[in-house]
Amino acid sequence: MPGVDTGGYTTLAPEEAFAVVGDETRIGILQALGEAGERLPFTDLRERVGVRDPGRFNYHLNRLTDHFVRKTDEYYELTRAGERIVEAVLAGTVTSAPVVDRTTVDQSCYFCGAPVEVRYYQERLERYCTECPGMWGSQEGKLGRLSLPPAGLQGRSVDEAARAAFTWQVLSMYAVGAGICPRCSAPLEREVDLCMSHDAPGIDTADGLCEECGVRHAARLVFRCPSCIFEGRGTLPIAFNSHPAMLAILANHGHSPIAPTSIADVQRVHSDYEEEILSREPFVGRFTFTADGDTLTVTVNDDLEVVETGLTRGRDDPDSEVASERDN
Ligand SMILES: [Zn+2]
Ligand SMILES: [Zn+2]
Ligand SMILES: [Zn+2]
Repeated sequence: MPGVDTGGYTTLAPEEAFAVVGDETRIGILQALGEAGERLPFTDLRERVGVRDPGRFNYHLNRLTDHFVRKTDEYYELTRAGERIVEAVLAGTVTSAPVVDRTTVDQSCYFCGAPVEVRYYQERLERYCTECPGMWGSQEGKLGRLSLPPAGLQGRSVDEAARAAFTWQVLSMYAVGAGICPRCSAPLEREVDLCMSHDAPGIDTADGLCEECGVRHAARLVFRCPSCIFEGRGTLPIAFNSHPAMLAILANHGHSPIAPTSIADVQRVHSDYEEEILSREPFVGRFTFTADGDTLTVTVNDDLEVVETGLTRGRDDPDSEVASERDN
């Protein structure tokens, strides 16, 4: 049978992979190749790692090939999996578990306009409104939690770190919106998590948060990667954040969705939206977003497909028009 050219790709069971990298010399080899930034010949690599015995060094190097280290001609270099290990180790060790206590940053709450405070804790930047109940009821005023590796705090003020966290998270969420795992690129499993008590008689939503689930909106997106450990939950519109209509309502008003001048302006559009549950089973929801007088409605079905969009331009706009588009 003819051999299959896998392009040098090999698979390794997770427990085997952990065993392979669970060794000081092998971690030293990965780090040396990562720091070199170029492929290295055997002797050069051995000297950098500081192992005298070529036989012993060769044994450890062989354990790493071909999954984490690739050998071409007489040179060794990191595979993508090897690079990821070095990235993860370096990202986690540049600073030792920094904590930043609640600090006011140059951002305002997209619900009420009050100042926003951030706290950095366990590699996440938590954002809190100082006045209103925020978005997620679990903690008073909580506007959300953005993941940021410790390296993100390096050489940045808290304000700058808060902006970096926004961009870092948004890039991930665009991958989630496209159904792609931002860690490993596998197809994500995604579904709608719907609070059945939201808007039910007797449920108090006076402060904007549901008494039962503690959250502002009834429909949430939950996602999980079947290949790696990435998983999470967020607002349902994350599922269609890269739809042209969603990008346009921001771009038409001069806002970059990824690295905006005003984070609050972008979040007001993305997070302060109206939600209408048109059908629970199967799920159909309509979401209404506003930006500077423009109103965009997006209807989504159970498969998280956008089935209809409608845009109403603000009255002050000389090109005022109503546009609507039905997909499928
Ligand atoms: Zn607020
Ligand atoms: Zn609820
Ligand atoms: Zn993954």
